[in-house]
Amino acid sequence: MARLRVTVEGIVQGVGFRPSVFRLAAAHGLTGWVRNRPGGVDLEIQGPEAAAAAFLRDLRALPAPVRVDRAEAKPQPERGDETGFEIRESGGDQAPLPVVPPDLATCPDCAREIATPGERRHRYPFTNCTYCGPRYTIIESLPYDRPRTAMKAFPLCPDCAREYGDPGDRRFHAQPVACPACGPHLRLATPDGAVRSERDAALRDAAEALRRGEVLALKGLGGYQLLVDATSPAAVGRLRERKRREEKPFAVMFPDLGALRATCDISDAEAALLASPEAPILLVKRRPGGAVVPEVAPGNPRLGAFLPYTPLHRLLLESTGRPLVCTSGNLSDEPMAFRDDEARARLGPLSDLFLAHDRPIVRPVDDSVLRLDADGPTLLRRARGYAPLAVPLPGDGPSVLALGAHQKATVALRFEGRAVLSQHLGDLGSPESADLLARTVEDLLAFFRVRPERLACDLHPDYASTRLAERLAATWGLPLVRVQHHHAHGAACAAEHRLRGPVLALAWDGTGLGSDGTIWGGEALVVDGPAFRRVGHLRPFPLPGGETAVKDPRRSALGLMAATLGLASLPRILRDAFEPGAWDPLQTLLARDLNCPRTSSLGRLFDAVSALAGLRRAPGFEGQAAMALEFAAERAAPGGTYPWAFQDGEARVADPTPLLEALLRDQAAGLPPEALARRFHAALADLALAWARQGGLRDVVLAGGCFQNALLTGLVMERLAASGFRVHRHRRFPPNDGSLSLGQAAVAAAS
Ligand code: ZN
Ligand code: ZN
Ligand code: FE
Repeated sequence: MARLRVTVEGIVQGVGFRPSVFRLAAAHGLTGWVRNRPGGVDLEIQGPEAAAAAFLRDLRALPAPVRVDRAEAKPQPERGDETGFEIRESGGDQAPLPVVPPDLATCPDCAREIATPGERRHRYPFTNCTYCGPRYTIIESLPYDRPRTAMKAFPLCPDCAREYGDPGDRRFHAQPVACPACGPHLRLATPDGAVRSERDAALRDAAEALRRGEVLALKGLGGYQLLVDATSPAAVGRLRERKRREEKPFAVMFPDLGALRATCDISDAEAALLASPEAPILLVKRRPGGAVVPEVAPGNPRLGAFLPYTPLHRLLLESTGRPLVCTSGNLSDEPMAFRDDEARARLGPLSDLFLAHDRPIVRPVDDSVLRLDADGPTLLRRARGYAPLAVPLPGDGPSVLALGAHQKATVALRFEGRAVLSQHLGDLGSPESADLLARTVEDLLAFFRVRPERLACDLHPDYASTRLAERLAATWGLPLVRVQHHHAHGAACAAEHRLRGPVLALAWDGTGLGSDGTIWGGEALVVDGPAFRRVGHLRPFPLPGGETAVKDPRRSALGLMAATLGLASLPRILRDAFEPGAWDPLQTLLARDLNCPRTSSLGRLFDAVSALAGLRRAPGFEGQAAMALEFAAERAAPGGTYPWAFQDGEARVADPTPLLEALLRDQAAGLPPEALARRFHAALADLALAWARQGGLRDVVLAGGCFQNALLTGLVMERLAASGFRVHRHRRFPPNDGSLSLGQAAVAAAS
């Protein structure tokens, strides 16, 4: 006989962990108890030693969404009076730490139920259990109990109540449990609100409309989505036109893994990620000649693919029988609609039909986007399935509310040795998105019951996030720490990896206001807590027209050439790519230095080189030209690089003049753009090494939107590791501006 006290840590709250422990104990014939405690779960088991050992083995291997990171067992004196195993209420007088479970994709058991005729939840689109279903999108406040969720309006029927109360049932204490007798229902309506059909008929009619090529607005898990047939060029074209989104790729949802494999080339690891409880959009390789039309992601070798993650999506995809474009319900640059009235107003003009239901969405949560790289996943958008899981942050310090920057906005809350990041909120360019930011701040503070002692924001005075931070700081009488953009990038990556000492940060991105008033983005910074030092940067060049250059790579090329080889060296073909009448005014801007902000942005250098190499000579969406350069480089075999000239002083300034000279020489010699692109990537790895040496520190962190580029990231990591540097890249947070709030929080806490 043995009695063990087991301390468990990991993802063990809000995921049906205690009932799982209960069932495991019963299966092994053990007595004892289990209860939640701040930051984890405690349990005791008593029984034959072999049974206890088997229990521990099974406990550590519990399937997702549970994740046991640590299970430490200590022997205890045996007890003679125990007869069974009990689930105890949370222990002690300490309030349990608020653990907010993310939304989880449909589990295999629930999937089986909705597919089985005769089951009472057959074809019921709101089926869920303790292992799956809505969480963050339905919780109004903590602790997480049904009366504080969007399910409060749906009293349990006797059958559901029995399941909810039975510790042996997989719906034991499943807060959103529902069935056709007591839960939410579907209705299909026209944009003016006229109901076409309800319940299962609504689902079948919606599938029929999709097959006809119509645009469907679907009330999904964390917001409204727009769906069309991904195999129809006309349907995809209709959606692009109405959404005013010309070339930006759409994500595609496939009915199942088999259908996905028919269109995309995926590894087993990618398949596992797609089918995980997080069920993210995964960027995967497109197979030539698949069913999905090229218009879905023009010029892109990858496709954002995902699998149905709610029973509603599952049933709809199954009824439609083909892959569907499934994109956030918004106009370009606005946040996703999630309330019924705003969805009707904003998406009405975009959609032919609305498939909605009567379960409110408490907060908008978009789909997460990932890519699986050679050394593990890269998060590109952190939302459903990941937010708002907390990460431990090193050090004590005050509680901080950080508001991020402007693009891919998130809010971070640092308290009690951890940081919580909101879900991705999108860009803050519209009044609606500024409003969403303010509501998210209120939401997070109320949710975690934190009173910040400090606020943090970007240096940029005109961001909606900065203005909100200033307003809140004035209202609450709190200090506001303004954190330089690239300092925050470096600090975010250092925080994620819990690096305490100074690090060299390669902060490479498109735009961030520098502390000298120019636009930075090709930076090497020594980041040391609240301070940083610029030890390297790209030689600044002018951007004719400023912001407009972000979407027009030709302007970056023009400014770069003007500052280096001179405009006479600009390839004729690029000059001819400007619209008639556009060339002369741009010349004037440059010559008179009007509206030509200086930038050391690596993102803009990417754009310029993409235009010079002939890969993108037209305006497009932000990042499009840089992506074209990345994809071209991926098609080329390695070989060759381009030289830099360095101006050594306080900072090592990298001058791309010799690089451009060599690139144009290659081009004149007839080398394909792919080879130019590849050599440019190699040159950036050389630059990373030169700057890492300049930093003189062993730990190097890679952050900023440029490191969304898998090839660049891989080359830089390899190059630096080979020279003995310890290189860290973002893994649990995105390399782009989505992590800035985390970095700001870390800097402000150390200030
Ligand atoms: Zn389930
Ligand atoms: Zn029911
Ligand atoms: Fe950035």
